[in-house]
Amino acid sequence: MKRFLILLLTALLLPSLAGAAEFSVPDKVSQGHAFPAAVTGSAPFEASFLWRGETLRVRAEQEKTSPPLWKAQVLLAMPIDARGGQRVVIEAEGVKKNVLIQAVPVAWPKSILKVAPRYVEPPREVREQIAYDAARSKKALASRTEKSWTLPLSRPVPGGITSPFGGRRVFNGQSRAPHKGTDMRSPEGAQVKAAADGVVLLAEKQYFGGNSIYIDHGQGVVSTYAHLSAFDVKEGDMVKKGQVIGRSGSTGRVTGPHLHFGLLVQGVAVDAMPLLQDPPQIVGGPSRSIFDQQQKAAKARSAR
Ligand SMILES: [Zn+2]
Repeated sequence: MKRFLILLLTALLLPSLAGAAEFSVPDKVSQGHAFPAAVTGSAPFEASFLWRGETLRVRAEQEKTSPPLWKAQVLLAMPIDARGGQRVVIEAEGVKKNVLIQAVPVAWPKSILKVAPRYVEPPREVREQIAYDAARSKKALASRTEKSWTLPLSRPVPGGITSPFGGRRVFNGQSRAPHKGTDMRSPEGAQVKAAADGVVLLAEKQYFGGNSIYIDHGQGVVSTYAHLSAFDVKEGDMVKKGQVIGRSGSTGRVTGPHLHFGLLVQGVAVDAMPLLQDPPQIVGGPSRSIFDQQQKAAKARSAR
């Protein structure tokens, strides 16, 4: 009730938005999840969203509604290690809304993998390549263009999840950073499709990712596709949601052919799977692999 009154009050105090401004922000989001935040008004306006030290300025787009509505929307990320309340400040036409979003903890799984030793202890001669890849990725993730992302995201390959986002990984007995994407089952040479409209930021061979594609969907939302056997696009190409961009394969640090599908939101890695749902799942996780599901099904069968 209190929240409703605040919202109503905000609307009444906003004459330039013709008394119809509505702020849409979730009050809790799970770690490693992306979430949309929006302001809607009955006339054109601009909004700014301050989140984790970065301000995104957004021009409201006209919605296909009658009477017409304008909506300024961003996709933001709750980092995998976020704790407690995280503040978002939204400003539209001189009205400020300040919301604390609670980070909901997620019990991330652990996965144990075996790969070629050169991917755990990279030899000296590839360090330059690794540093170059890191610089190229950093530059790509710093891109801030106009919004072209739309939800739900489109599934890049039909296969199930073999290794979910966020898993703490142990390669050949050594702990490494959590998994920053989702591994999906996909045979060598199968089509890989863009998750949303965008522009190809890079399409090149990297040491760990093998043949990799990064697509810019605007506002710092970037999808990545790794271990490809072939490219169907090049840097600078405009792509449409569902367009074939490459073929899956087993290049880079892999245990076999699959697609590594990543999503970075203003540089922060999030689980892309909840955004394949409509509406997006913002509280929940971790995503389950097909192996967990098989185990669960086997347990359920033996329990009967
Ligand atoms: Zn992966």
